[in-house]
Amino acid sequence: MTTHDLNLISAFDPSGIPADPFVARHLIAGEWRDSAGGETVERVSPAHGVVVSRAAKGGEDETNAAIAAARAAFESGVWSRISGKERAAVMLKVADLIEANVERMALIETLESGKPITQSRGEVSGAADLWRYAASLARTLHGDSHNTLGEDMLGVVLKEPIGVVSIITPWNFPFWILSQKLPFALAAGCTCVVKPSEMTPSTTVMMGELLIEAGLPAGVVNIVLGYGQPVGSLMTTHADVDMVTFTGSTAVGKSITASAAATLKKVALELGGKNPQVIFPDADLESAADAVTFGIYFNVGQCCNSSSRIIVHEDIADAFIARVVELSRDVAFGDPLDPATQVGAIVTPEHQAKIDTYVRQAVAEGANVCLGGGVLSVPGLDGQFYQPTVIAGVRPEMAIAREEVFGPVLSVLTFKNADDAIALANDASYGLSAGIWSDNVHTCLDFARRTRAGTIWTNTWMDGFPEMTFGGMKQSGQGREIGPYGLEEFLEVKTVAMRIGRTRAPWVRKR
Ligand code: NAD
Repeated sequence: MTTHDLNLISAFDPSGIPADPFVARHLIAGEWRDSAGGETVERVSPAHGVVVSRAAKGGEDETNAAIAAARAAFESGVWSRISGKERAAVMLKVADLIEANVERMALIETLESGKPITQSRGEVSGAADLWRYAASLARTLHGDSHNTLGEDMLGVVLKEPIGVVSIITPWNFPFWILSQKLPFALAAGCTCVVKPSEMTPSTTVMMGELLIEAGLPAGVVNIVLGYGQPVGSLMTTHADVDMVTFTGSTAVGKSITASAAATLKKVALELGGKNPQVIFPDADLESAADAVTFGIYFNVGQCCNSSSRIIVHEDIADAFIARVVELSRDVAFGDPLDPATQVGAIVTPEHQAKIDTYVRQAVAEGANVCLGGGVLSVPGLDGQFYQPTVIAGVRPEMAIAREEVFGPVLSVLTFKNADDAIALANDASYGLSAGIWSDNVHTCLDFARRTRAGTIWTNTWMDGFPEMTFGGMKQSGQGREIGPYGLEEFLEVKTVAMRIGRTRAPWVRKR
């Protein structure tokens, strides 16, 4: 394939990259701190190949200090015991401040992650809505009462904050995923220690600035920058942490479950996916082809919800693949700083090599590449890009059909009837999301009920709302985020049984 066949966006305006890297520090007990030994981590922009941020590299000292600050803030009641109205007031201010800072945050998000600037703007401004929704939960949160236990009893079930929460986030949606967790933990009354990915620390640090400006008391949210070892690891083993909420790879999620077991802390996990879209012949095929194209190239396929395998009815497979290939050529790949760009860069050279290895292996196993299948050079840019890639003739046992490639690589499988399609959709260790395209409501509902995934989309892909909960089945995770269930994760439930009047019969019999 020549690059002339693709819609390539060459280097945009280099003056859009700040001359000096953003400097990111830890936030501990309300103070910005460098690491004790002064170590830092530099992030090189995946698209431009230049250093865009320099972050403090945390160790055990910083992590212990952050956990101690969160514990002290929790016990003080400065956040955990104030009213929902007061919590909501701070959270609504944060939402306003996010909106006032969209440009600043979107730019560094794009420079660190390689995602298109229009997408970063959408994610940052959309996060404000998550904060507003969570603020509404802070005010409406309540427990239960039981008035049917007999005349002399009243039962009350209290909902209380679980305590100190460790929040560990990945690089692919740094600000968005932080906002799927932090405001819900705060609405519940928890205090937090946050660790962003070492590759994308800056918007989390900017969030710290906004929290201070909004009036959040010191120590309620602490941020430690650095790697999984030792920072993330200590955040999952420390006895003063009550819960870990983690988004990232399934492998790290499993290791966190194991390391958190020693202290029996609660663990919530949002992990990987191998999400299918199933296409029936009676669907609006043009809309389905567009959604499949969106589903595989959004965030260069570096997305837990990437629809990296499609399952197409055999009668329409050839025509449908041809249409997806045609649409793929029109998707704008290139400089993420150009507002015209729809698909940006691959996060690291190592990850690019991993994507390519999956493609090479599929070819060796007999699959055929209908489009792409190699690295992409974008004129004027030093970063790493991968071609839009469509691979047909994929069999269910191939690695490319089962594992998370995390790149712009679509695998196509085919089916004969609805039972086959559902069996193929469920033939995965993951269960994050799945989609169905058909104009027959019965076909859609049957699929929705029989497919094991936390989210099912019918005749659409990747629509999400703060009201609608999100999470995975099987090895895609445990627990749920956003929506009312997203708040429940951060709550402990306590039963209070109250006797009315002096009606309690003595247990000890008089001799
Ligand atoms: P990752 O697992 O490599 O890292 C995630 C975070 O965990 C980072 O902050 C990292 O520093 C930290 N970490 C690494 N080792 C650790 C350890 N031993 N203990 C504690 N923390 C540790 O994941 P990634 O590459 O940053 O993100 C990509 C993965 O995230 C993909 O698998 C993707 O599917 C998944 N993801 C899932 C969702 C979802 O909602 N289900 C959303 C986005 C991304």
